[in-house]
Amino acid sequence: MTELDELMKQTHSLLRGGGEGTIYDFGNGRLAKVYHPALRSDYRSNKVKWLVNHRFSGEFARIIAWPDEAITDHGVIVGFTMPKLEANPLAELLNNDNTFTVDWKIRATICRNIAAITTHLHREGIVVGDLHASNFGYDAGTGKVVLYDVDSLQFRDGKRLYLCEVAHDDTRPPELAKIDLSRTEALCEDTDNYMLAITVFQLLIGAHPYAGTRAADRASSESGILSRAALEGEFVFETDKSSVPVYAAAYEVTSPAHDLFKRCFIEGASDPNARPSALEWENILAEMAREEMAICQTHGNYPARMSSCPFCEAKSPVITTSACKSTPQPIQQKGGKPPGSASTSPNDSALGIVAKIVLGILAVVVGITLLPVILVFAVLDEL
Ligand SMILES: [Zn+2]
Repeated sequence: MTELDELMKQTHSLLRGGGEGTIYDFGNGRLAKVYHPALRSDYRSNKVKWLVNHRFSGEFARIIAWPDEAITDHGVIVGFTMPKLEANPLAELLNNDNTFTVDWKIRATICRNIAAITTHLHREGIVVGDLHASNFGYDAGTGKVVLYDVDSLQFRDGKRLYLCEVAHDDTRPPELAKIDLSRTEALCEDTDNYMLAITVFQLLIGAHPYAGTRAADRASSESGILSRAALEGEFVFETDKSSVPVYAAAYEVTSPAHDLFKRCFIEGASDPNARPSALEWENILAEMAREEMAICQTHGNYPARMSSCPFCEAKSPVITTSACKSTPQPIQQKGGKPPGSASTSPNDSALGIVAKIVLGILAVVVGITLLPVILVFAVLDEL
């Protein structure tokens, strides 16, 4: 154990504040998380104690920011130290403009590695809970993945249950839509499997599986609407291809995983038992990363079974307004119009520019031609 006073005498910088506590960087590959005073409790202390006493070894220990030492303040556990795992934030790939900047083979490997971490934790009886891209980091060269926020994992110590108390709205399965996670054991392997499938789909296709649906009002990311779309089984990539968002890559690029996607997003939307396990995802994604590849000059590797690069076909989304939780806005389709709008198309705009240039030239020509005539009339008027 490390005493907080002693720890803070060492050279450090503030890495991140907010949330449950403050994270300090000691510049030697070590971080410390210190909980806010209001959040310190026996429950949280015991959770940290369990984590510190159940550290992993080998390669797995190097890809997970597992607490390695409790931090105490006058004998009370108030936080923990952990390794600093350098990686790019995976959530940056959920931005539609960024998704395809990373090579397909690497993205399939990233997804495989997220599934492998999940499988490993499930075998240990641990639920990830808030399985979301924002809790992972990645290496763009190798597809290696690391897991952060380990103290939010959910597990049992004998009869005592340590909950994961939060989950992102955009990956919540329908059965959790209105559940207070801090009060009940709602998260489990089935919910992890659903969140894993959503994350895999987003990273491979560049769109949310329930985006582009009728209920979701064209690509809204508002959670309640996505949950409703899920309950209604509106996985349009299988059920209504005309409603698929234009910014998504061709669904066929993921064809080896289609059975798994159907089991999760159609059957599994209302039946948690139908969802594929993390191990099934790990296996299929490993196969997809090993497929024969063709090369696109812009996007690198893509599966050679595709007739052309599926990522060149996907169109960039144009966000018409900033994201707003309470008033979801449609994403304007490139070259098209959002529902109910009267916006002009790029072709209309181009015609407008040409017309303005022609009118401008005409105005100058007419002006030069008429100027001598006006001057003559002015002189005659003077006379
Ligand atoms: Zn391409």
